[in-house]
Amino acid sequence: MPRHAKNNTASSFFTAHEKQQLSEYGTQKKRLGKESFRSFDCCSLCLKTIEEAKACQKGHLFCKECIFENLLAQKAKIKREQKLYKQYLARMQSEKDAADRQKEEASLEAFDKLECGVLNTTDSVNSSEATNSSGREKHAKKFNAFWMPSLTPDAKMEMKKPSKHTRCPEGNHPMKLKHLVTVKFTPSLDSSTKFQCPVCSKSFTNASTAILLKPCGHVVCKPCWTNLIKDTRSCYTCQKGFTSEEFIQLASGGTGFAGHHGESLEVTKLSPAAWV
Ligand SMILES: [Zn+2]
Ligand SMILES: [Zn+2]
Ligand SMILES: [Zn+2]
Ligand SMILES: [Zn+2]
Repeated sequence: MPRHAKNNTASSFFTAHEKQQLSEYGTQKKRLGKESFRSFDCCSLCLKTIEEAKACQKGHLFCKECIFENLLAQKAKIKREQKLYKQYLARMQSEKDAADRQKEEASLEAFDKLECGVLNTTDSVNSSEATNSSGREKHAKKFNAFWMPSLTPDAKMEMKKPSKHTRCPEGNHPMKLKHLVTVKFTPSLDSSTKFQCPVCSKSFTNASTAILLKPCGHVVCKPCWTNLIKDTRSCYTCQKGFTSEEFIQLASGGTGFAGHHGESLEVTKLSPAAWV
């Protein structure tokens, strides 16, 4: 008779208590807390409070120093990759030339032999041996044998053409240094947040949607943008005009509430539930 206790391991199914004991068992789901999200006034690269903010065309925020450093590193990497690609192309070309030359020489030799007429017997024996051995080699080369040094296949090293464009480290879209927009935030009066909307004095958090005006770099909240600034076509702070396309919606981090900017609120860790 099995023992009926919560630590019973004789039954054919797992009890809730046993599942709890196995922390890595099955699919784990966990709701992300506020500390898992980047707060609105933080740089996407260094995750510290933003300094001399710059925004890309898709609204990702960075410190000036961080994004400049990142783009310079990307440019150096592109230069290095292109140099390697050039060397690879030159090597491929020289290999192709050598193969072509060998082919041509072989065909010329065959033609010479044909033109010379009848070959002497020893030569013919040698040549037949040679053809036999070369045929064997050819046959053997069809099969890759990793345990025989002469038959080990060469690894084909193919190199893809490296991209010439620098990319945004946050959104992975093509981005150039000259397309970065300088952001002029209005400092917040509230000590818990860093920036606020200059129109309604509401602090910017991850829950708010901020609009950046491209010509002057001032940032307002979305309600103020829709109700006041969008139609007047001039900045509230500096009165500078802008066209209907000269604005960017700034990307913010998550809030922990469903339906905000469509970010996923749950992480799922898949682990095997049973070994078969
Ligand atoms: Zn930074
Ligand atoms: Zn971006
Ligand atoms: Zn506002
Ligand atoms: Zn302005």
